[in-house]
Amino acid sequence: MSYSKPTFKEKYGNFINGKFVNPVGGAYFENRSPIDNSLIAKYARSQKEDVNNAVAAANAAQDAWGKTSAAERAALLNKVADIIEANLEEFALVETCDNGKAIRETLNADIPLSIDHWRYFAAVIRAEEGSATELDANTLSMNIKEPLGVVAQIIPWNFPLLMLSWKLPPALAAGNCVILKPAEQTPSSATLLMEKIADVFPPGVLNIIHGFGPEAGKPLASHSGVNKVAFTGETTTGQLIMQYASKNLNPVTMELGGKSPNIFFNSVMDEDDAFLDKAIEGAVLFAFNQGEVCTCPSRILVQEDIYDKFMEKVVARTKAINQTNPYDINCMMGAQASNDQYEKILSYIKIGKEEGAKVLAGGDVCKLEGELANGYYIQPTILEGHNKMRVFQEEIFGPVVAVTKFKDEAEALEIANDTLYGLGAGVWTRDAHQLYQIPRAIKAGRVWVNCYHAYPAHAPFGGYKKSGFGRENHLMMMNHYRQTKNMLISY
Ligand code: NAD
Repeated sequence: MSYSKPTFKEKYGNFINGKFVNPVGGAYFENRSPIDNSLIAKYARSQKEDVNNAVAAANAAQDAWGKTSAAERAALLNKVADIIEANLEEFALVETCDNGKAIRETLNADIPLSIDHWRYFAAVIRAEEGSATELDANTLSMNIKEPLGVVAQIIPWNFPLLMLSWKLPPALAAGNCVILKPAEQTPSSATLLMEKIADVFPPGVLNIIHGFGPEAGKPLASHSGVNKVAFTGETTTGQLIMQYASKNLNPVTMELGGKSPNIFFNSVMDEDDAFLDKAIEGAVLFAFNQGEVCTCPSRILVQEDIYDKFMEKVVARTKAINQTNPYDINCMMGAQASNDQYEKILSYIKIGKEEGAKVLAGGDVCKLEGELANGYYIQPTILEGHNKMRVFQEEIFGPVVAVTKFKDEAEALEIANDTLYGLGAGVWTRDAHQLYQIPRAIKAGRVWVNCYHAYPAHAPFGGYKKSGFGRENHLMMMNHYRQTKNMLISY
């Protein structure tokens, strides 16, 4: 089954104070599909004045929104989930068109997961209980939670609707008004969502500003009218955003880059074929869904006594990946999200070769026919080398996996933790000791054992080291969007 490119209007403005508005300066930028480089639409190229208008609208709405009940807010979050669900295929198509990822992924993962995050936080606020203790017979000590106020959120292009759905529900559930800036490469699904839910929230509660980082993101993150900045993106951009937010002493959460190890111990090669197949899929499929995932298992570590046999199977599976039109349901790996990203990935493949890495699979562009020849396709690539190489240390954010071998547990951990990042990791073993002790010793915020790439809404997600701080998902997320007031009441 194959789908085709969805239709769009000629241009889209920002969504401020409950309606679409033209950018103040009247400028728009062109957004193109990485599938075939065709024009999608034009989007508002926002500047400081647009940000000022959004911040003013959010501040005007904050007081009333902050006073709504948890039940009222939960009902609206559930309504958003229902609307996305009723239009799931349309959202999946728009996401594939904008980002280039295979329709199989957007239909089965990105959009369903997005829906679940809205429902999860609707449930979280309904289930919360307050706390009160007696200090003495005449004094009650009560803790209550209050919204932080107006929240600025800035997100990347790799999971446009999902990143939005990680950010908005907890902030809104906590009673904050929000201004969110999607990535300039992928503004479409956020816009579609605003079209569908324009009347759900009171005007000003939820605002979307389009545009580029330095022109729209910077004035938003540094605005004195916001009370919190939540960011997902590259580590170097996160460092800038922290500087901007510090001017207002605003709290920040940072979800940044990664270089995740995926460790395969020798017990994966025992007799059980089903387990071995799962492990091979774990090495291949979770790395090669375009590779544009912050937790992409981009470093494969294999125990030396199984290395040759295991890698032979991994390489064969990698070469069998079906790269075709991303709108085709059988496509396993789509286009890279932009020309910049495409060029960056190719430059890293070149660097890997120059460093002496051996190419076990891929290593070049993938040439597709017809209009797809204008798109950004790269072969799934495996580079064999050692952990000091740049391709093992720097985030490539593409379908490039660096592979090396280790002798024992100690060496596996030494290599795994020898990175500036600490976002995700995978461990594959049937040894009971390793099942627990290896993930305990890895310095990362999420470790999958005998699985990979599951992102349930209830599981806290976030980084150690240069992968950031603060957590997404889980009910603890609510604490990133609220402050606690203690009241000592004597009676
Ligand atoms: P990026 O940092 O270039 O851009 C992210 C967002 O920041 C975009 O909206 C962009 O317009 C904005 N921005 C850029 N410069 C800015 C500035 N000076 N001021 C304000 N805003 C600015 O990142 P990207 O290339 O869009 O995304 C890829 C990165 O995101 C990777 O490093 C990936 O690991 C990371 N990521 C992390 C997570 C996570 O949860 N940890 C999830 C997804 C992606």
